[in-house]
Formats: sequence, C-alpha cells, structure tokens
Amino acid sequence: MKRLLFLLIIPAIAGAQLFNKFFIDKTMRVDYYHTGTKGVEILSLDKVSPEGIYSGSKTQLLDPLNFGEYMVRVYDAASAQMIYSRGYSTMFNEWQSTDEALAGIYKTFHETVRIPFPKKKIQLTISRRDKNMLFREIFSTVIDPNNSAQIHSGQRTPNYKTVKLIDNGPSEKKVDLLILGDGYAKADMQKFRNDAKHFSDVLFGTSPFKERKNDFNVWVIEVESKESGIDKPGKNEWKENALGTQYDSFGSARYVLTEENRILRDIAGQVPYDAISILVNDNRYGGGGIYNLYTTCYTQADTKGQEWQMDYVFVHELGHSFGGLGDEYYSSSVAYNDFYQPGVEPWEPNLTTVTDTAALKWKSFINPATPIPTPWRKNEYDSLETLRGKLDRLAPDYYEKREPLYKAEEEIIKNAQYKNTVGLFEGAGYVSKGVYRPAVDCRMFSLSLVGFDPVCADAINRVIDSYVK
Ligand SMILES: [Zn+2]
Repeated sequence: MKRLLFLLIIPAIAGAQLFNKFFIDKTMRVDYYHTGTKGVEILSLDKVSPEGIYSGSKTQLLDPLNFGEYMVRVYDAASAQMIYSRGYSTMFNEWQSTDEALAGIYKTFHETVRIPFPKKKIQLTISRRDKNMLFREIFSTVIDPNNSAQIHSGQRTPNYKTVKLIDNGPSEKKVDLLILGDGYAKADMQKFRNDAKHFSDVLFGTSPFKERKNDFNVWVIEVESKESGIDKPGKNEWKENALGTQYDSFGSARYVLTEENRILRDIAGQVPYDAISILVNDNRYGGGGIYNLYTTCYTQADTKGQEWQMDYVFVHELGHSFGGLGDEYYSSSVAYNDFYQPGVEPWEPNLTTVTDTAALKWKSFINPATPIPTPWRKNEYDSLETLRGKLDRLAPDYYEKREPLYKAEEEIIKNAQYKNTVGLFEGAGYVSKGVYRPAVDCRMFSLSLVGFDPVCADAINRVIDSYVK
C-alpha cells in the first residue's frame, strides 16, 4: 500500500518541481503567421506577450495525448531539455485540403500557441505530422523572456464584463472552459447570458462531461458586437460582429469559423482559459470545431421543432475542439478533398484505416466475439445518404424533404445487430470506404442527441485528465 502511494505521488511532485524550476505562474502567448498553399507552409513570428496566470496542468508539462496535426515544443535553451509540449490543429491545415489550396492559391492565417511563461531563454519549435504520423519540425525561434523589447507587455484588451459561471477551484487543477458570444449586440446581452447557461447545462448533461462536471470551471465574457448576427459571405450579408465569425468558411454554408485570431485572443486573455466555445447569435444551422483552437455554435433555430439540433452541434463541436475527435460521418458535403488519405492513419483517436485487430488503437475496447470489420446495413444507409446529400440544405423545405430519409437512417442505426458494441464499422472521416469508426452510432456520427461511444468518451476523459491530474 505504502509503495503504491509512493509511486503515485512522486511523478506529480517531480512535475511541479519542474514547473517551478523553469516557469513562473503566468502564460506566454506566442503569435505567428501561417502562410502557404497545398504542400507548402511557412511560419513566421509575430508577437510574444504575457497573459494572466497559467491555467494548464503544472504537473503534466509534456503532452500526454499525442492528438493534433501540429505540436509545439519548448526547450530550455541552456540545457536543450524539453520542458513543455502540446498538440493542436489549425484552420490552415483544414484549408490546405480545399479547392482553393489545391489550385495553388496562397493564404495566411494568424495563429497563437500559449505556453507557461519561462524564467529563462527558450527555444520554441513547431512540428507538423508527416505521412507516418511523426512530427517534423517546420519552425523554430528563440525567445528571451527577460528581453523586454521582445515581450509586448502593452494593454490591448477591450475590457468586457467577465463572469465565472461555474467555479470549482483553482485553474491549474481544472479545465477552464471559456464561453464567448459573437453577434450579440447590446440589446442581445440577456439572450447571451441565457444561451451561455443553456449550453453549459447541455454540456454537463452529456456523458462523459456530466460525470466530470466538478473538473471544470466555466468562464463567460460578455462580448458586445455593434450589430446582431454574423457574416454570411455567400449571401453577401455582412455584420459588424466583434469576433469576426462567419458562415461559409472554406465555401461550406454551415461551417462557422473566424479568421480574426488576434482579436479573439486579446479578448479571451482576460480570463484563464484552456478551451474556447463561441456562441453565435444567428439562425442558420452551423458550427465548427478545431482541436485546441475553439468551437462555434449557432443559437437560434432556423425552423420550429429543430431547436434540439443546436444542442447536438454544441457538444459535437466540442468533441472536435476539446476531445480531439474526428468526424465519423461521411457523404454529407464538406469542403475537403481527401482529408484522410489512403494508407495514412489518422491521429484522431476515433478514426482508423487499420483493419488488423492486433494493431487497432481501440483494441482494448473490443470483445473477441465481435467480428472485425463489424457488419452493419451500410449499403442501405449509403443509398439514403446519397439522396440526403442531394438536398439543398438552405432550401425552405429542407427539413420536410430530409425527414423520411432521416427516419429510415435512424431505423438502420437503432436496430443495428452490433448496436452498443465497440467494433470496426466502415464509413467515417467523410469517406464511405477505407476509414472506420468504433461504433455504429456516436455523437460524432449521426445528427442526433446520441451520446459519445466508449472510445470517444475515453478520449474526452483523457483530455480532462491532462488538465486536472
Ligand atoms: Zn464535426
């Protein structure tokens, strides 16, 4: 018993000592430009600036998850010891598989990595995965925290009212979820407060977040926009919304993202945060979520009776941005070309191209009696999805036309032979063949209020652990 305690306590102490040796209790925000096209990318440093207390774990300085398309690593310059790392994904890597990038057009995104504030000179590197999932360095810079000319300490934050909606304790031991609003004008602020409370309740009503509610703090910043609503470039509708979120991202009507990273980060930096969720005050179905970046979600139903879809979107998108999960659905139209390439194993914990059980990343969840790959009524489902994919999502009769197809798909999933079983189900990651998912249904697969399958729930739990343990 004593020995077990000893083993459990020592790594935590060693981690905390490492933090105190190399860092102070503050966050360093490193901004850079990410430029390129298909197959080409260049990173260049923008600004380094201090933020508030460090909200991440002080005992797990090296990334325990290995999720994300990129990895930031920090080395103590004097000893070359790696003292911090974290995985993340970017708008840039998603944009790289759009038609625009394939046509050779160049584009620049502004991005940020946040690290604990070092005491001494560091080398910061950023690496990208190669086809074998190994990280290859694409950027390196030296930062001296004691060189005041290199650290931009000026005030830049417009001060909005902040509220700690759920307070479960010190940030370093909790996941600090920050909820921001975009497209909420002054007159919409009570709606924003209600929305923030509603979606927080929805999240903590969904497993595994439900069981881990005490591991979260929830912060809210009452960001005020000049106008109600957000941009819809495809309809030439533009709003003066504070965070710059817009529909039609990468040409996809329902994809909501913002390219105003600097503004977003300036505002978010008012509170300690580990994850950002942006509620958009608009009524077209939509959202988005990128690992370790942010989630977006619409907050007004476009059609009566479809309000539940917002709750679906909010939690689904957090599955991406927080849990590092990939989309398990396929055949719904997305803006990507070959997002998951044949023969390349996705890093997402819930997608695979591997069909050999012994090498499968979720093999520990599989009962030996379950056939691999696992049969389901895929052909029937695929023909329904083909019809569904032909519908105009923005047409007024969309839901009416979708309903019979939706019901028929639901029937296939609900009556699946291997329902509630972890196996290897073909069809995932935007493709019908060659990419597999762990269960017949999951919040990352069907557009429904179904929970996360055991493999996805485990990934979310591991992410929570990386902040709180
Ligand atoms: Zn998704």
